[in-house]
Amino acid sequence: MSRTVAFIGLGHMGGPMAAGLVKSGHRVLGHDLDAAALDSAAAAGVVPAESAAGAVAAADVVLTMLPAGRHVLGLYDDILTAARPGTLFVDCSTIDVADARTAHQRAAASGMRALDAPVSGGVVGAEAATLTFMAGGGGEEFAEARPLLEAMGKKAVHCGGAGAGQAAKICNNMILGVSMIAVSEAFVLGERLGLSHQALYDVASTASGQCWALSVNCPVPGPVPTSPANRDYRPGFAAALMAKDLGLAANAVRAGGVNAELGLRAAELYASYAERAGNTEDFSGIVRTIREHDGGQP
Ligand code: NAD
Repeated sequence: MSRTVAFIGLGHMGGPMAAGLVKSGHRVLGHDLDAAALDSAAAAGVVPAESAAGAVAAADVVLTMLPAGRHVLGLYDDILTAARPGTLFVDCSTIDVADARTAHQRAAASGMRALDAPVSGGVVGAEAATLTFMAGGGGEEFAEARPLLEAMGKKAVHCGGAGAGQAAKICNNMILGVSMIAVSEAFVLGERLGLSHQALYDVASTASGQCWALSVNCPVPGPVPTSPANRDYRPGFAAALMAKDLGLAANAVRAGGVNAELGLRAAELYASYAERAGNTEDFSGIVRTIREHDGGQP
């Protein structure tokens, strides 16, 4: 069924996601504060709207893909009253679990329905429509959004109630951040012990050390030719995005009083690494920081 979708936030992710909806036959009314983002979405068939409220007023479903929770909540304040009663608001941005729950509450208080549906798969996944969506909200809302999510991705998982999509996203990325640091430290230790990268890889990738950070995104060049380490750590998944997601995980850890020492330490290490590496280096480049800080004592 073809839907009329308002898509707000047409940046690196939102632009190609909106284009994917157009390709699947949906009518997409797009808005972004950045004129260049709006122009390039228009070139892909998105109908440019002068204001977010204008796009939302004519839509069945509202999709948002914005930098952070404050942008989503700020925008919701402007547009919730502009939508038709019962309109479904699907936020695909990666934001704090607490902000996502607030967004659900504000939508409900305005007579709207909501879903949080952050993604994994990055810009490459957005362009190829192979994203994975993790959704939080009601079952009916998920069923209604599902065809749209599947037009932009390969998989959509309903994780539970309000905020459960964001919870799944940050828990997964906390595993990834901690495991990338562990794999990187093991390679640096192996170097100091005279072990070749290939030997450690051959053992760990087929033994109990096996994980995605090692066998797909290996942080040293050589063993996995497609990993970013072989192209001077060009992303991939940028260090700044890992730092952001671990920061959101750390917020939730502290808010819940959870005992997650490694998750909190990973957030600190990635925040410091991202100050230098930002969006230009893949998160696996943290291995170089670990090596630089190697004490050098035998
Ligand atoms: P981006 O900065 O490229 O795009 C965000 C867009 O939102 C910008 O074009 C900006 O102008 C627009 N915007 C901000 N406030 C607005 C408002 N009030 N009204 C209209 N437009 C507004 O960011 P991105 O890389 O596309 O990421 C978007 C979200 O997706 C983030 O939450 C990010 O964490 C998440 N994410 C990104 C990736 C990735 O690889 N880039 C991967 C997974 C998840």
